[in-house]
Amino acid sequence: MWRKVFSYTKEYLDSFKHLFYPHICLGCGLDTIVKEHILCDECIKSLPHTGFFEIKENEVEKIFWGRVDCQVAASLLFFTKESLVQKIIMGLKYQQNKTAGLHLGELMGIAIQKSAPMQYIDYLVPIPITKQKSKKRTYNQSLLLCIGIQKILPHLSIQDCMKKNKATPTQTLQNRLQRENIRDNVFELDTQKQIKGKHILVVDDIITTGATLEAAFLCLVAAKPSSISFATAAYTI
Ligand SMILES: [Zn+2]
Repeated sequence: MWRKVFSYTKEYLDSFKHLFYPHICLGCGLDTIVKEHILCDECIKSLPHTGFFEIKENEVEKIFWGRVDCQVAASLLFFTKESLVQKIIMGLKYQQNKTAGLHLGELMGIAIQKSAPMQYIDYLVPIPITKQKSKKRTYNQSLLLCIGIQKILPHLSIQDCMKKNKATPTQTLQNRLQRENIRDNVFELDTQKQIKGKHILVVDDIITTGATLEAAFLCLVAAKPSSISFATAAYTI
């Protein structure tokens, strides 16, 4: 009996809360979505998947040809301006929408699960943010993606083994000629965390020029992992 009373009370409280904090689909505005979700089923189905996790030599891998020797690289969704994917990424980066990060991470986890080349990943490594940014935003969006991936693939542990020293102007990152500079200045390796001999998957929210992941590769390779792969939630076309 008490269980029933509890369930009614919870239902009542949930609907009361819903009045003030409705769970609205980011895509179409429908307000009857599941609490843990950011999109309704129709909008989830409409997401522009790249299919790259199952394609060898895909467009994201090609970005790194002649730059760094990554094992596999893939992005989950195509990113275009004024799109739903842009809305989700903006929500994650600038509007404190942590659920967006976890949900995108889960979708990435499902893609990794189906990806033959990614079956031998040992660790997930998030791209770090500076301390300053972390104070302002209170969370690292790449770490949230890793947590989402881990929900689907619980055997993958997260090794937060890089630090970002200071904010780097995008222009500097984009200048591939300054590669040496990037390696020295952007990321620092936490030598306490062992990744030697492991296949690590570096996770980030979005890839444009590939400069951030390239810098991460150059930092991580010093710790002698067996191989390094990249996965991002979105890919700018
Ligand atoms: Zn919707």
